[in-house]
Amino acid sequence: MISLPVIESTKPQLTFISSSPVPKDWSLWGIENPKIQCNHGCNTNIPQRDHPVYKFVDSFIEAATSKSVSLTVSLQTLLTTMPQVWKEKTLRNEIVRIFISIATNQMMHEYQYGSLLSQFSTNSLSQIIPFTKAIILIENQDLIQDDDILTIFYHPKITAKYKNFNDDPNASGRRDILKFLSRRISCSCLKDMHRQARLTITKTRRCEYCMEFKERDELMLCGGCRLLEYCSIECQAADWKRDHTKSCAQLADHQHKHQIR
Ligand SMILES: [Zn+2]
Ligand SMILES: [Zn+2]
Ligand SMILES: [Zn+2]
Repeated sequence: MISLPVIESTKPQLTFISSSPVPKDWSLWGIENPKIQCNHGCNTNIPQRDHPVYKFVDSFIEAATSKSVSLTVSLQTLLTTMPQVWKEKTLRNEIVRIFISIATNQMMHEYQYGSLLSQFSTNSLSQIIPFTKAIILIENQDLIQDDDILTIFYHPKITAKYKNFNDDPNASGRRDILKFLSRRISCSCLKDMHRQARLTITKTRRCEYCMEFKERDELMLCGGCRLLEYCSIECQAADWKRDHTKSCAQLADHQHKHQIR
């Protein structure tokens, strides 16, 4: 009988060797990366494998590296399988600190040496955004009253926090993400990058219909759902005809539901 061939991981190999007990996948994301000295206020003691914080971060990293699992699905799974993490503030804070450190390291590494995860994407922002969105959700855990992550994603307070996080090179997402992270770290690691971004990147968002990036104050808000934005009345009318006639009331419903709570 032919024995089963060895199964090989298709995951990229690390470009540096670490003797620390940091899991391989985590080091790949910048935790204890020897090129990055600072932990940006994150506790450097990574918890044991059976610790809920370890399990949570590990599962999230697994999902973030995989192209087949969406952020919402992975958070939804973590929310239902690890309710203790969502209830315990100290655990949530620990996860947020690790995520902030990971996202900051990605930004810094790209700035100095190119994308940490160039194997997956040339654009680091698309790798960082899932972490920033997860941070927003965890920080606003008190808004989660039913166990449905998708509902929370449409909460007006939540959408306002992440709607500028866009990975398109023409968008101002980089500037917004730098601001988001630099407010949350105790060190000055992102100071220069943020200053530069403020000087060189104008604040933009996309028109929901023509998908063009416009200066934020040029955009107009749909009065129905108070969520979608358009560059002109023509674009609003065209999107209304296309499908917003159906989704507007639904989105407005979401907002209303949250407001009366
Ligand atoms: Zn730092
Ligand atoms: Zn438009
Ligand atoms: Zn609308």
